[in-house]
Amino acid sequence: MANRAPTFSLQRIIFLSVSLVLCIQVGWWINVQIRESGRLLQARAQALNASRAEAWQMDSLSILAFIHARPDPSSRAGAVEGRMPALPSLEQRREAIQRHFPHVAVVLSRRSPDDPALLDGSAFLALRPEPMLELENQRWHSVFRAASEGAFMVVAVLLGFVLIYRKLAEELDLKLRQRNFTSAVTHELKTPIASLRVWTETLFTRTLPEEQKQRIRTLMEKDIERLNELVGNLLDVARAETGSLVVHLAPLELAPWLRGVCEAMDLRLGAGSLGLKLEFTSEPLWANADPKALATVIENLLSNAFKYAADPRQTTVTLDGDGDDVLIVVSDLGQGIAPKDLPRVFHRFFRVGDELTRQVAGTGLGLFLVQEIVTRHGGDVRASSRGHGLGSAFTVRLPRIPRPADG
Ligand code: ADP
Repeated sequence: MANRAPTFSLQRIIFLSVSLVLCIQVGWWINVQIRESGRLLQARAQALNASRAEAWQMDSLSILAFIHARPDPSSRAGAVEGRMPALPSLEQRREAIQRHFPHVAVVLSRRSPDDPALLDGSAFLALRPEPMLELENQRWHSVFRAASEGAFMVVAVLLGFVLIYRKLAEELDLKLRQRNFTSAVTHELKTPIASLRVWTETLFTRTLPEEQKQRIRTLMEKDIERLNELVGNLLDVARAETGSLVVHLAPLELAPWLRGVCEAMDLRLGAGSLGLKLEFTSEPLWANADPKALATVIENLLSNAFKYAADPRQTTVTLDGDGDDVLIVVSDLGQGIAPKDLPRVFHRFFRVGDELTRQVAGTGLGLFLVQEIVTRHGGDVRASSRGHGLGSAFTVRLPRIPRPADG
């Protein structure tokens, strides 16, 4: 994963820039909304003020009409020289104003310096406080609505971005791992084939003493074993992916089977090279298992304990019961796994570190296969490590079964 860091940081920069632009855009939108609602409310307040002026006009006109009214000289009946119609009382005028302008109040003292005095100076016209308060409330309501809609938009879009970003990062990571896998498999295939070619040429072109022939034969067997293991793993992974990896479960006594698998693997890797220590409980433990598939699990874990630890190795395999389960733990004192990598070691193609600096050969499929097989046994597998350089432990948990009647 040599080019992983720059790609991810570029993605991050794009992501942050888009988020920033989005936040600015939404901030501007909120600002526009607030300004618009402010303008609307200002217009309503002006309309209210105008209604006060209209009320004043109406009242003044009615008073002027009374003042200028003259008795009709042509009317004889009830005509009284010089008598003027009586002015409407303040109460009557208040009622008339109230009827036409419900938001305007006739008050005896000014509430605000803008309140106009009635034409005869008997009272003042003021705006009622309720509509103004309602306008103020409406203004806050629209500010709150614009802000919450904007916040919701930002959160929704950012959430979408985060999901897309994560999906993209996953895809990219898988692509990179796949690319690394191809080069790793090519390398894994080429190395034993090249070595087999050299040994075959040596055997057929030179006359060698029997002892050296024997040594070459052992080395060739190791290469063939390595190829066989790789092809077997690849086939199993392909089966796991298509769902055709089938395990044939039958009651299995774990201790003798596990001892056999560990000892055979120790021999294959070079007798004693694992520094193997078996710690088995004396109690007989049984599980429904496919011995061949489960052997692949243990072989992969032991192969990793060998690959990721330096000489002299100390590998411990423990077998114990835990309530209704059986635990098989393969632990080593090798290079360990950093906490950030622990959750990913079971991912397909995942390998810790950088392809350019990585020293140990591998494909990143072993632990994926381990997990697939253990899951098909109804169990689970976990990795733990106290950190880099402090070794690792892999715990396989399987459902325990009672010893069969004829076991
Ligand atoms: P690989 O073919 O690379 O060994 P695995 O799937 O078996 O693939 O392991 C995935 C990665 O987990 C390895 O590349 C290695 O970085 C890490 N790992 C697995 N087992 C161990 C271990 N016992 N000690 C340290 N690291 C380990």
